Amino acid sequence: MNHKISKEIFKKAQKYIPGGVNSPVRAFKSVSREAPIFACKGEGAKIWDEDGNEYIDYICSWGPLILGHNHPKIIAGVRDAIELGSSFGLPTKKEVELAELITKCCPSIEMVRLTTSGTEATMSAVRLARAYTNRNKIAKFEGCYHGHSDALLVKSGSGLLTDGYQDSNGITEGVLKDTITIPFGNLKELNNILEKKNIACLIMEPVPANMGVIYPDVEFLKAVRELCTKTGTLLIFDEVISGFRLALGGAQEYFGITPDMTTLGKIIGGGYPVGAFGGKSEIMQLVAPMGRVYHAGTLSGNPIAVRAGYEMLTYLDENKETLYKELEDKVKYITKEAKKSAEKYGVNVVINSIGSLFTVFFTDKKEINNLKDALSSNTENFAIYFNTMLENGIICPPSQFEAHFVSIAHTQEILDKTLKVIDMAFKTIGEKNEK
Ligand SMILES: *Cc1c(COP(=O)(O)O)cnc(C)c1O
Repeated sequence: MNHKISKEIFKKAQKYIPGGVNSPVRAFKSVSREAPIFACKGEGAKIWDEDGNEYIDYICSWGPLILGHNHPKIIAGVRDAIELGSSFGLPTKKEVELAELITKCCPSIEMVRLTTSGTEATMSAVRLARAYTNRNKIAKFEGCYHGHSDALLVKSGSGLLTDGYQDSNGITEGVLKDTITIPFGNLKELNNILEKKNIACLIMEPVPANMGVIYPDVEFLKAVRELCTKTGTLLIFDEVISGFRLALGGAQEYFGITPDMTTLGKIIGGGYPVGAFGGKSEIMQLVAPMGRVYHAGTLSGNPIAVRAGYEMLTYLDENKETLYKELEDKVKYITKEAKKSAEKYGVNVVINSIGSLFTVFFTDKKEINNLKDALSSNTENFAIYFNTMLENGIICPPSQFEAHFVSIAHTQEILDKTLKVIDMAFKTIGEKNEK
């Protein structure tokens, strides 16, 4: 496979953009490649790069594209909206309809505010939690990623983890001191912290997906809910990935656990920039102009993005009876067959999956349940896996610590083609291990 043009563009990119990319994981640094592929077109489950290569896509824009690339319903809505104007800086009717739809799909959200990204949603939710509880400190779990605001870039997953660190530079000591981190699944330590430290909120991915996918123990989630209630700590579910993906009502519906606040992103924009934070009215009423917790945005609730999100959620709502089960079945099929290949070649892997997400951890461990477990992974083997897939027309997340995303456009034929290449990749890794 030829990547000449992508390499040329990357050379120029590095001159004008730090690292040549606008989000770090895109640089393909951790999978030992000279350059990333530069995408130029997507359709259904496939994308094309600037060299004209075709790939089956398991990045799916890191989550938003649960319907695949350029779903006709979303394109039609966006075309409609574009004709009417790009942005007004005034409220529009569709924003209200999207807000209503979000509260209908996710009943714990009584009121919701739209943002332009997931980062803004989590940042604002934390500010609101501090104002509501009149407390300063916040808690998060190690390896969970909640966007790139200062307070949340401590023991972070996603791109930081991919590049071999977890805390960003440039954050003041005061901010670092106010964010307390706890290993995922460690109830005893969580109890200790919440009892003693006067914590405003615990923000968590109910299904961690930014250190690779972790399947949470429902008993743990229940205990977290109880502890937060007991200590007056607001529980924020960061459902930027899990929202509208595990179920229409996200992980909270899937596991039957009600948070005080929820943050959303990715899918609710249908591939366009939308985020949201919402929750109990009593809390949300503190947001300006009702209250004095400030949140604003020139492009918050942008009409094109909102229309895309509205079409997306409407489609999911109309098809919820079959769509989520179908997605889960696709992932079950792929992970079951992939495990067989791994066994055949003596490659040690743990494949974690839930709903339409999965991660192949190259590890000797039996289970991957937290950051420490995830860090046991052999990233060299992951790089071999990634590169074998890429060279054979399948683009996976360029990181051991991210999820593969499956869409409704991933047909049986596409899954079978993927499995053939997974088999090749595991064979190569198995042979390398024997040497
Ligand atoms: C992607 C992500 C974010 C950040 O969203 P952006 O739109 O990238 O700012 C926050 N939380 C979680 C769980 C995410 O996966």
